[in-house]
Amino acid sequence: MVVAVDLNKFFGDFQALDKVSLEIEHGEVLCIIGPSGSGKSTLLRCINQLERIDSGAIWIDDELIGFRQEGDKLYQLNDTEIARQRLSSGMVFQRFNLFAHMTVLENIIEGPVIVQRRTKSAVIPEAMALLEKVGLTDKKNAYPSELSGGQQQRIAIARALAMKPKLMLFDEPTSALDPELVSDVLNVMRDLATSGMTMVVVTHELGFAREVANRVVFMDRGKIIESGTPQEILSNPKEKRTQDFIAAVL
Ligand code: ATP
Ligand code: MG
Repeated sequence: MVVAVDLNKFFGDFQALDKVSLEIEHGEVLCIIGPSGSGKSTLLRCINQLERIDSGAIWIDDELIGFRQEGDKLYQLNDTEIARQRLSSGMVFQRFNLFAHMTVLENIIEGPVIVQRRTKSAVIPEAMALLEKVGLTDKKNAYPSELSGGQQQRIAIARALAMKPKLMLFDEPTSALDPELVSDVLNVMRDLATSGMTMVVVTHELGFAREVANRVVFMDRGKIIESGTPQEILSNPKEKRTQDFIAAVL
């Protein structure tokens, strides 16, 4: 479903991604772990086209991302085409960036109504079903400031899902939360994984990775150092750098 080949990304002279290659199957949950600055967010942001790769290629469901190929020439897509492609993945960030001046329900229907030009009458029942899924039906008329961080993050997940993405990208969705709020968000993500959603999750929650991930990737200094089953990476890592990281996080 996602194929990334030899991704390189530079910020000035600094190489944030170094020949990163990755394949994600339909319905797979891939967890990415690694130290701060290792390129985890950059990788997600390149998949979602919030950043442009300098070389390499990404396909989502066989569609080349960011470029159009004609013969053996590649042409960069224009902003409209990129905006359309970006809808294929939903992204949830560390900081819940809900629209502060909108209610929960308005936040969820905003994308489908404004971007996808669907009618409110079609979208509202779907939004209510999503609210039910994240356990926050009773908060539909609340404003973000009236919600806990964990509740806001569950709304952010519902809002991303409202666009019916093919895959969901999570960038440390629980690391800004008070510890007692983390499990509610992880439970929503676990349900989503069980429902068959393809997910890429950057997380320090090794317990979640162990239980939910099909595959775990360890990154360091812009490179994928090793990848394997949760058991292989979290319990029996081969590489010294992975061993040191796991020991430090546990
Ligand atoms: P963390 O766990 O702290 O979130 P990360 O693995 O997500 O780290 P990235 O955010 O991907 O790391 O950053 C990788 C490297 O690229 C870092 O050294 C960072 O300083 C650098 N970097 C990221 N974005 C930019 C940018 N827009 N401009 C310059 N450097 C950047
Ligand atoms: Mg990051």
